[in-house]
Parts: sequence; C-alpha cells; structure tokens
Amino acid sequence: MRERATRAHADRGTTAAADRHRRRRGTLVVDALDTSTVARLQLLAGNAAVTRMLSGHPATVQRQPKTGSPGVVVHPASQLSADEIVRRLKKNKNVPDFLKKSLFSKNGAIVIPANKVPKAPAGTFSDFLQPFIDAITSPDWQITTAASTIEINGTPPDKLTFKQVVTPHLSKGQRLGASVKTGPGEKTFMADTLFSQDKEIIFGWTVPASSTEQLKTSRGLVVIVTKITVTDPQGRTKEFTPTEDEVLESVMHEIAAHAGRITAGLPDTHGNRAVEDISDDIAKFFRYSDAARGVVPFSTATRIFEFVGAKPAAKP
Ligand SMILES: [Zn+2]
Repeated sequence: MRERATRAHADRGTTAAADRHRRRRGTLVVDALDTSTVARLQLLAGNAAVTRMLSGHPATVQRQPKTGSPGVVVHPASQLSADEIVRRLKKNKNVPDFLKKSLFSKNGAIVIPANKVPKAPAGTFSDFLQPFIDAITSPDWQITTAASTIEINGTPPDKLTFKQVVTPHLSKGQRLGASVKTGPGEKTFMADTLFSQDKEIIFGWTVPASSTEQLKTSRGLVVIVTKITVTDPQGRTKEFTPTEDEVLESVMHEIAAHAGRITAGLPDTHGNRAVEDISDDIAKFFRYSDAARGVVPFSTATRIFEFVGAKPAAKP
C-alpha cells in the first residue's frame, strides 16, 4: 500500500515543470494528484501510459458518463454541509461578488442554476471561471472534508522527512480505491491512500471517479482538509485548523483547477500552464499581499513549518 503510493508519488515528483513552478512561486502546494491512479496505471499499463498521464495527455483521463443531477454533491459524512459551504462562500470578502450571486445550495449539493451562470465583469477575464462552472454544472463531482496527519522526522531545519496521510470523511466502511483484475474471472479491491512524502502541506485533493467505486455515485471526489495533526521529531503532537479562507480557497481551487479540468477532458496536472493560471487566479483572491507584491503562503502551513522548526517556504 505505502510502497505503491510512495513509488507513484516519486513519479509525480519527476514532473520537472511542476517542481520548477513550485520553487519559482515559492507558494505551498495545496493539493496533490491522485497518486493511486498513477500507481494503478503503472501496474496495468506500464510506465508509458503513466508518463502520458503525467504530461497531461487527455487520452488517459477517464471521463465519466453524463448521468445524475448537475451540482457538486456534498457527501453525507462531510463535516461541512452544502448550506454551510455556500453560506461561507457568499459572506467571504475575498470571493468575487459576481460569483456569489450564482452559487446556491440545493438538496445537499452546491449548484449554479441554469439561469444564473456567472459571467466575468465586462473588460475582465478570469482563468478560473469556466472550469469552475464546468465542474459545478456537471454531474461529475462529490465533495467531502478530511483530516490529515503529518509525521515529521529528522533534524530541523533542513533534514526533515514528511509522511502525510489525508483521510477523507466517508461513510463507515467506505474506502477510496478500485477493483483490478487479478486473474481470470478474479477482481481484487485495491484501497488507495492519499499519501505524500513531499515537504508540503496538503489542503485539498481531487480524486477521479476511477477511484470512488465504493461511493457508488459515479462521481469523482473533491477532498478538503479541515484538520491537520502534526507530530514533530521529538514526538510532540499539535493540531492545526486551516483558516476559513484556506478552506474556501481549497474548495475553489480543487473545483476549478482539477475537477473542472477533468470534466472538460483537459489535463489537470500542476505544471500545465492553464492549471497554474487557474491556481494563481484563485490564490490572488485570497492571499495577495500588497506588501509582498504577490501571493503569500498559507498561514497554517507557515505555522506548521514553524512548529517543527523547518525552514520557512521560499518567498516568491
Ligand atoms: Zn492543485
């Protein structure tokens, strides 16, 4: 399990463009690719297919049949309801006003009614808007909250290792993963762990429908981290709660930069220019600093790095 996830993540780490981008911007990674899908592709199809997927080749992106009601359905086990997510988006000062008017909660889903599809104000252009609309007006997505744990070992400030596991809030017994053919007439369920060994703090993760069969929705799952438990090298444990802005930015980021891109059959891998433009758009709503003349890191990530004595993330 861990072996598979780790290897897959190492593959992702070799996407040089993503790494370069991360260093250049100095911002913190807010999510991660569904490593399990990569691992499974590797098992089934060999590295060529994985390389295609990592380079964003849409041919390997699994598209879902268009069934079910449009809207991002909130999972029953989510600690934030559809009403609450929409209420928070509408009252947040960083969410653009033209968008607030289009967002509603209906039957436990986040929706954009057909007669209220948002348009960017005249003379402006939004990279995030179309993919955001694409995801929410499709029947492709579900969302839930998550708790994550980060175990940090080694010696501060620069010889630290991270083990980070994101556990989405799902119903009892439900797991992410997929059944794979393991023999003639034989299928085995392979559970997926949302796992990272990178020195990053994960605030969200978008899991394609190919890993959600136990949820029985035919939808992919957007995962939003609402609690982070960190253990430092001395064994001290501290709990961190992402701020409301961080949670809402992650909701918008995962929906636009990942879910919406996947719905449109477009690559959603970081390093892709369009994905980065969408990310930057949304990051600027929430984290633009006049003093820093750019986007500053997530404050919760900064606090976690301080707690463990890690070097602060590079400034943009
Ligand atoms: Zn992302």
